[in-house]
Amino acid sequence: MASAAPTSEPDDEPTEETALETARRQLDRAAAHLDVDPGIIERLHHPNQVHRVSVPLERDDGSTAVYTGYRAQHDSVRGPYKGGLRFHPDVTEDECIGLSMWMTWKCALMDIPFGGGKGGIVVNPKDLSVDEKERLTRRFAEELRPFIGPTKDIPAPDMGTDSQAMAWFMDAYSMQEGETQAGVVTGKPPVVGGSKGRDTAPGRSVAIIAREAIEHLGWDLEDTTVAVQGFGSVGAPAARLLDDYGATVVAVSDVNGAIYDPDGLDTHDVPTHEEEPEAVMKYDAPQKLSNEELLELDVDVLIPAAIGNVLTEENADDVKADLIVEGANGPTTSAADATFEERGIHVVPDILANAGGVTVSYFEWLQDLNHRSWSLERVHDELESEMLDAWAAVCEEVESRDVTWRDAAYIVALERVAAAHEHRGLWP
Ligand code: NAD
Repeated sequence: MASAAPTSEPDDEPTEETALETARRQLDRAAAHLDVDPGIIERLHHPNQVHRVSVPLERDDGSTAVYTGYRAQHDSVRGPYKGGLRFHPDVTEDECIGLSMWMTWKCALMDIPFGGGKGGIVVNPKDLSVDEKERLTRRFAEELRPFIGPTKDIPAPDMGTDSQAMAWFMDAYSMQEGETQAGVVTGKPPVVGGSKGRDTAPGRSVAIIAREAIEHLGWDLEDTTVAVQGFGSVGAPAARLLDDYGATVVAVSDVNGAIYDPDGLDTHDVPTHEEEPEAVMKYDAPQKLSNEELLELDVDVLIPAAIGNVLTEENADDVKADLIVEGANGPTTSAADATFEERGIHVVPDILANAGGVTVSYFEWLQDLNHRSWSLERVHDELESEMLDAWAAVCEEVESRDVTWRDAAYIVALERVAAAHEHRGLWP
């Protein structure tokens, strides 16, 4: 049962730094490589605005519950704020700010004309009926309406929200505006202005970037083994595409555990989270492993694509992969990252690898503004081209500055955001 105005802090003692602390630390790390006005860096430590709203909901039993919602808007120097809305009991203001900063870097790295935003409601969506979810989403759209819009701030689905929620959100916004405004959110079903290929885009970009990194390291895809944690929107398309490219995907997992076949799994046959939720372990495979064991498998490439903070100081020394491609947001803690750097394990960061999601969201927005829908082939071609451009920009920094792929990605992003601030100036 959801309670009214639920508290947002998890019970556990925080052992890792918060999303906001991580985002600020990464900003400082990148800034140390660049000659940027310290005033701009200081500005970027803070969000432009954070909106906090109370969202009342009439429950199915007639009672009223009030939930807290946030929308953090970090930076819009390159264009409207862009980022997801999550429904999760652990949503906090600081987390929204930290994640909105990540969106600023992700959009800048992909060179798409958006800034960073993130928001959510402190609620467990599993405690709500479909009707309650619809009412809550519509009311949230109304509470945020003064601060968002197709040229101001464009939300998207995130944890606990989906394409249906985006359709309700768009409808509620449009009803009040008096006209259909499909461009107010992305990640909608294609029939109401969504883009073809949006659902598999983050996984697709993970596979494209993994393929490029494998080639960069001089490996042969045909001889490369891959393990993927999480078989949902990100992990499943990534595993299947790498399989199609010729790599051998030996292990995949869901929340219940992992399946392992040293000769390679038929990834198209294993049910994805969407096809049959949490059914990976039901698949007939030679071996079953735990998620912890999957992370420590002796493979060439490890793709954590389920949840954050799975590669930590506890297991970083036991990871045997030579290349980690981050499919999930924030799967590697700072301590693990330091260990991987020391051990010479290459890590391709989330803001590059899973950026296919926001990139196809950008395509969706362009389609909405132009009232024109693109073919799936066009979406795939343009995504491939955007990913290769971003990859090339990151490789250039890696080579010229001798930094990690993570640092290089942040340097590219910060350079672009800082240059935009320098050109626009501080007003008044
Ligand atoms: P999803 O719900 O579609 O799939 C998640 C998968 O991970 C499922 O197979 C689930 O069983 C598994 N899983 C859940 N908890 C787990 C645990 N504790 N251990 C192991 N496996 C677990 O989610 P998704 O959309 O694929 O998102 C996965 C990650 O990618 C998240 O970090 C998300 O923030 C990030 N991401 C998603 C998108 C997107 O557009 N979907 C874009 C960028 C980043």
